[in-house]
Amino acid sequence: MTMNKKIETICVQGGYTPKNGEPRQIPIYQSTTFKYDTSEDMGKLFDLEASGYFYSRLQNPTCDYVAAKICELEGGVAAMLTSSGQAANFFAIFNIANAGDHVISSSTIYGGTFNLFSVTMKKMGIDFTFISPDCTEQELNAAFRPNTKAVFGETIANPALTVIDFDKFVRAAHSHGVPVIIDNTFATPVNCRPFEFGVDIVTHATTKYMDGHGTQVGGCIVDSGNFDWMAHKEKFPGLCTPDDSYHGIVYTEKFGKGAYITKATAQLMRDFGSTAAPQSAFLVNLGLESLHVRMKRHCENGLAVAKFLKNHPNVDWVTYPGLEGDKYYDLAQKYMPNGTCGVVSFGVKGGRKAAEAFMKRLKVYAIETHVADARSCCLHPASATHRQLSEQELVAAGIGPELVRLSCGLESADDLIADLDQALRG
Ligand SMILES: *Cc1c(COP(=O)(O)O)cnc(C)c1O
Repeated sequence: MTMNKKIETICVQGGYTPKNGEPRQIPIYQSTTFKYDTSEDMGKLFDLEASGYFYSRLQNPTCDYVAAKICELEGGVAAMLTSSGQAANFFAIFNIANAGDHVISSSTIYGGTFNLFSVTMKKMGIDFTFISPDCTEQELNAAFRPNTKAVFGETIANPALTVIDFDKFVRAAHSHGVPVIIDNTFATPVNCRPFEFGVDIVTHATTKYMDGHGTQVGGCIVDSGNFDWMAHKEKFPGLCTPDDSYHGIVYTEKFGKGAYITKATAQLMRDFGSTAAPQSAFLVNLGLESLHVRMKRHCENGLAVAKFLKNHPNVDWVTYPGLEGDKYYDLAQKYMPNGTCGVVSFGVKGGRKAAEAFMKRLKVYAIETHVADARSCCLHPASATHRQLSEQELVAAGIGPELVRLSCGLESADDLIADLDQALRG
């Protein structure tokens, strides 16, 4: 009997079902390589004629169990782990866009992703247009070119905390025959499952809430299996025409709904090797087992802190999509009615200097370039993650010099609020 399991059950048990007498917990396959009886057996793997493991740069069972759990959480058909969230976003796009191609991205995205797109991938010949997530549908449609291959955005943007309107982005992308790729790191599938709103591919920095304990960097790509590559085959030759590096197989013909992830694994992992380590995958899974429990608390603490800051005399403004009156409250209610995330941004009255002084006085919140951890932490993006951006780009990314990003952990909300109060009062 197949059961339509709830998200809580998938967090705990998804991805790995031991057979009689097998380990209850996911085993760590600490092995680079796998043994075969004949060269013919192995040859079939190299030709993608048979599925199986041969070298952990491409695939490893521990990593695959964890990818399968995330896939199930998102409601996708196939998934792969990567060595970082950066690798996940790079592969997700590079799998379908080459030199000479164009991608549309929301302008409010993670600073690392913005650098990847606007500097490094640009050097590789892929052109990006950055557009405000608040753009009109007309403006969005006008950004498409004949060589546009994907539309990218973040469910809840890090650190701007904008909420993307899936309906608007999906409608525009699909009317131009390209998929929507969404980085769902901040919401996690506990609070939002973008495939339910027509998104085609989801990425994650598992580094954040999925791990949740600040133990390792990792990423994941999940495919909904819903995008019809063959209906737009002239746009996606990599998926729809023969791959010379595998004796001319055509991924869509041979792997159907698994085409996109199979290509990313067999071709991009083979060539770039940004693989997750089995030990890291094991640790991500420990985080996933309690993701549903932790997200609830992160959201409760985030909302309590946001409400407190909103009424504080030394606070200019507060951004938290779960806070009534927030610019993105309605979109958050539409797409994430059960909660958003534990990250709250706010402006310290007095600008950059006041923000820096406030940070120095904090005792419970630690200064880190990290978010989504059990331990509360905070960052002043203008002097850290986003320091490469010009003033203009800072504004476009929704990050003023007074902005402080708080990541509310799993501590007592009372202690978090007391810490913020003393640091704000100085
Ligand atoms: C952190 C983060 C990334 C990058 O992930 P790494 O694991 O640090 O490479 C990508 N997207 C978002 C939204 C993030 O928060």
